[in-house]
Amino acid sequence: MPKKPKGVLRLIAEKCIGCEVCVGECPFDALHMEAGLPVIDYEECKLCRKCVKACPTDAFYVEGEEEAVEEPQAEAISDTEADLQARLRQYSGVWVFVEQSGDQAHPVSWELLGRGRVLADTLGCSLSAVILGDGIDDLAPEAGYYGADTAYIVDDPVLAGYRPQPYAHGCLNLIRKYKPEIMLIGATTLGRDLAGAIATDLHTGLTADCTGLDIDELTRELRQTRPAFGGNIMATILTREHRPQMATVRPRVMEALPRDESRTVEIIREPLGLSEDEIATKVVGFKPDADLDKPNLTYATVIVTGGRGLGSPAGFELMKELADALGGVVGASRSTVDAGWISHDHQVGQTGTTVRPSLYIACGVSGAIQHRVGMQTSDTIVAINTDPEAPIFQIADYGIIGDLYKVVPELIKVANERNLKELLLGKASEAVS
Ligand SMILES: Cc1cc2nc3c(=O)[nH]c(=O)nc-3n(C[C@H](O)[C@H](O)[C@H](O)COP(=O)(O)OP(=O)(O)OC[C@H]3O[C@@H](n4cnc5c(N)ncnc54)[C@H](O)[C@@H]3O)c2cc1C
Repeated sequence: MPKKPKGVLRLIAEKCIGCEVCVGECPFDALHMEAGLPVIDYEECKLCRKCVKACPTDAFYVEGEEEAVEEPQAEAISDTEADLQARLRQYSGVWVFVEQSGDQAHPVSWELLGRGRVLADTLGCSLSAVILGDGIDDLAPEAGYYGADTAYIVDDPVLAGYRPQPYAHGCLNLIRKYKPEIMLIGATTLGRDLAGAIATDLHTGLTADCTGLDIDELTRELRQTRPAFGGNIMATILTREHRPQMATVRPRVMEALPRDESRTVEIIREPLGLSEDEIATKVVGFKPDADLDKPNLTYATVIVTGGRGLGSPAGFELMKELADALGGVVGASRSTVDAGWISHDHQVGQTGTTVRPSLYIACGVSGAIQHRVGMQTSDTIVAINTDPEAPIFQIADYGIIGDLYKVVPELIKVANERNLKELLLGKASEAVS
């Protein structure tokens, strides 16, 4: 038998930390903040107990007992569903976090705006960029050029370098105030750190390393697709009862829109509301990565990848020779990394780097699914393999069935004779043609 609520909602002020989660959860707008504490509007409160369940410090309780009354069960269920839908309807808009460092945006931010534009157009809502930092005004129009309708700016000296606490604080304030239904963040070192902190505080879902993002047109839910079970299946994950729906996406998985300077953006500024002395961590200095030999696979134009078909670590010298002749960098399959032939920095794939070069040459790589998910969106894929049945040929634009030790030296010769390096880097296209 369903229960009819009876009693009065009470707040234990001593327990309240002023996080405002209850205000966001209440489907009836029965709570608002005053002097850092939630105030209950008893006219509006329906005793749905959403705030009681959501409060992280158990600061709410219902005074009085529930009494059993006879009511049709179907009605009770539809009430609960109605509450949920009412709460979800408070959220609207697609947001993309713009990661920046030293006034430069990480390109993944523009890639996410590209996908965000498609999602927002499908939902019929606006696309917004969220930009936090110190002196970051120039990034707002730039976000507009890449597709954003609106830029939320939090500009404060405290945000000069990334620290989780002030960045999460700034994002959480914006999300609680403006209630986006989707929030996308780049799966970079910074983005992974920030996304986890935000999702935890909001008690919402977060799908990491998505390879596909779409809208279910019937339910308006975000379909977040990513490899699961060792990459053997693609799982589509939904965040059914919480908002925003949060996802991270690795660099080069999505495509940025062409930069269009005719596009304009509406700018909304918000204060950070946090001072330096409230932040536990201090930045005492910044040291860039000392390993200058690290390959920049993510944004390379040409990648020459060696697999176990190389037969030995020495085979990577041939890969380097071809990569140099084409102005590219050397990639590797996991088998070669696991065998200790080359460092993990070179690994392409699910547990390595996701790449999207103009030209990807796979030499002696079988094309396992875990490798393919990291390179299959490359513009042109060339595969060299002795086995005509190798799966890599299924996604290759050009397949060469043969021994890489015979084919690659020929490619190096042609590349050098025709100065393909200059052509591919777009520096001497006229001379070559
Ligand atoms: C959870 C998980 C995550 C993984 N993550 C990744 C990842 O990020 N990246 C990744 O690459 N793998 C990953 N793997 C491993 C993946 O499943 C494969 O084992 C691996 O990609 C195979 O590497 P390979 O193609 O170099 O070797 P093989 O599969 O052994 O293929 C070697 C190929 O070389 C060809 N060959 C041999 N001799 C020659 C020759 N002389 N000339 C031309 N061709 C030749 C053979 O025909 C064969 O097709 C992952 C696996 C798991 C379970």
